[in-house]
Amino acid sequence: VKAKGKNGYCFFNTEMQERAFRRVEIEQSLRVALDTNQLFLVYQPQVDNQGNCLGAEALVRWTHPDKGVLSPIEFISIAEECGLIIELGTWVIDAACAQFKTWSDNGNHLKKISVNVSPKQFRDINFVNIVRDAIKKHQINPKRLILEITEGIVIKDISDTIDKMTVLKSLGVRLSIDDFGTGYSSLRYLKELPLDQLKIDQSFVRDIINQPKDAMIVTTIISIANNLELNVIAEGVENKEQVTMLIDKGCMQFQGYYFSKPKTAADFTQYLEEQAID
Ligand code: C2E
Ligand code: CA
Ligand code: CA
Ligand code: CA
Repeated sequence: VKAKGKNGYCFFNTEMQERAFRRVEIEQSLRVALDTNQLFLVYQPQVDNQGNCLGAEALVRWTHPDKGVLSPIEFISIAEECGLIIELGTWVIDAACAQFKTWSDNGNHLKKISVNVSPKQFRDINFVNIVRDAIKKHQINPKRLILEITEGIVIKDISDTIDKMTVLKSLGVRLSIDDFGTGYSSLRYLKELPLDQLKIDQSFVRDIINQPKDAMIVTTIISIANNLELNVIAEGVENKEQVTMLIDKGCMQFQGYYFSKPKTAADFTQYLEEQAID
């Protein structure tokens, strides 16, 4: 019993050490990644019920020198914990605006670009300036920029959140609540925040066909959006049945593998050209 306990303890300890080590390793290499341009963005189309492109969501990727291309799931939370999210997030906003400008300059009009903003990044004192600078530098119409934030930002200090969102709205940018329904926002907050869009989390879309409760949650989110006059988009749409049901419930904007996986900038350029033809 004693030996087993000891082993259990050692195993636990080693695992913790490994995790801590991996964390430090990622943190250090992320520092280098930011300095040497190892990050890049991919773009996932957002479409209407005919499959016409309404916009794109920019999603970050990291070409790690040893590990290959890493998903944001592997490094965003580490970046948040060690503070690098501010620099990373600033890079993302700048890169997305630069790409958006390139597309408009080349006549490949993209209607909107959505960018993810982490709660810590949103709370940063310089956040509004960073957004303002990127819009100015790349001369983009602020109405074309959608910031996707999660309900996580609302937990602390509702009045600060309202103030900051109001300033962002005065710049002209649009605000979307990402992963809607998975966090804590109360209906009162939803009413008070100057929002433009709700994004139905993919966890509800996934089982919308076989799980009546998920279908009901989606119905409710769509009706909240309609009542608050917010635009609503479903993410994680993977098949036609889901599209049909979402349309039936009144959701007309979609994002997901059924329409397209995220594309590199080059592939997205080609996609925009094809969209313009039909
Ligand atoms: P998210 O904002 O909810 O983004 C949607 C995620 O779902 C993306 O994963 C996307 O590739 C994936 N996805 C899209 N369509 C489908 C589908 O039909 N089925 C399934 N199963 N998945 C689908 P990705 O790119 O790995 O990003 C994961 C998360 O990392 C994002 O979730 C977002 O929270 C975060 N993230 C990504 N880029 C950034 C960024 O630039 N800044 C910040 N702060 N977070 C980011
Ligand atoms: Ca998002
Ligand atoms: Ca989401
Ligand atoms: Ca998500």
